[in-house]
Amino acid sequence: MQARECAVVTGGNRGIGLETCRQLARRGLRVILTGRDLTQAQQAAASLGANGGGGGSGPVEAWPLDVGDATSVAAFAARLEAERTPVHALINNAGVSLHGFDADRVAATLNVNYFGAVRVTEALLPLIPRGGRIVMVSSGMGELSGFAPALRARFLDSALDRPGLDGLVASFIDDVRHQQHERHGWPSSAYRVSKAALNTIVRLLAPALVARGIVVNAVCPGWVRTDMGGSGAPRPVEEGAAGVVWAAMLPADGPTGLFLRDGRAIPW
Ligand code: NDP
Repeated sequence: MQARECAVVTGGNRGIGLETCRQLARRGLRVILTGRDLTQAQQAAASLGANGGGGGSGPVEAWPLDVGDATSVAAFAARLEAERTPVHALINNAGVSLHGFDADRVAATLNVNYFGAVRVTEALLPLIPRGGRIVMVSSGMGELSGFAPALRARFLDSALDRPGLDGLVASFIDDVRHQQHERHGWPSSAYRVSKAALNTIVRLLAPALVARGIVVNAVCPGWVRTDMGGSGAPRPVEEGAAGVVWAAMLPADGPTGLFLRDGRAIPW
């Protein structure tokens, strides 16, 4: 009998992450629900019941993982490695949308939404086999249409590489610190820049991963009723997670390097 596929979901203790865990477990995957607070992650996993409440074949597991903390990410990867657990689907869902706007909050937002997802992806890449899928849970708020043309061109520059992107992100933090960000065409939103950077890393990673048979996409879940989305959001969490799960279950020759909403490509 073939071993079950394994999925890792970051920020799985509530919201879209928790619902993504539920839907993946129902599809029969072994789901590792991760959270920065282990007790909350355990309670969330237990709330799903055996099999994620559906037709899977095992309980959802809760593991600690703070994507903003390099030590936590390294420990998580080491544990997977020690247990020889291949990661067939990695869902980088953890995200923050902090109130207020200053350099410290900007740096904190980027550390989770952009650097956190990159940190986890890089740590787990050696464990992702051929046919693996990586999903970056992004947002339409990251669309480059809201950026000044010169800045948009820097994000879309075909010569941009990973150090260049990190440098671009660092220059935003620096510009905010020196109150120069508007002059340089940045929006006054760390969240929007973090998701634009996340989308850009998808474009940078995808071609390199084709040879390894791994697909990577950014997914906007739409505006979803969660703690972050608020009670006035039009989409139930089931609908928001469905597009994430769709991308997490793509075949090896499926679309890659795209920004998707409901399974369809949307503009960067
Ligand atoms: P929630 O605020 O409900 O959940 C956010 C999750 O991220 C929580 O589990 C939270 O954990 C976790 N998280 C935050 N920081 C860290 C960290 N350092 N390490 C690990 N986990 C962390 O938000 P949603 O469910 O709505 O959002 C999920 C994703 O979807 C985010 O990336 C968000 O940007 C994106 N999104 C959401 C939209 C919406 O309308 N809701 C729209 C577009 C995109 P904890 O409980 O410990 O804080």
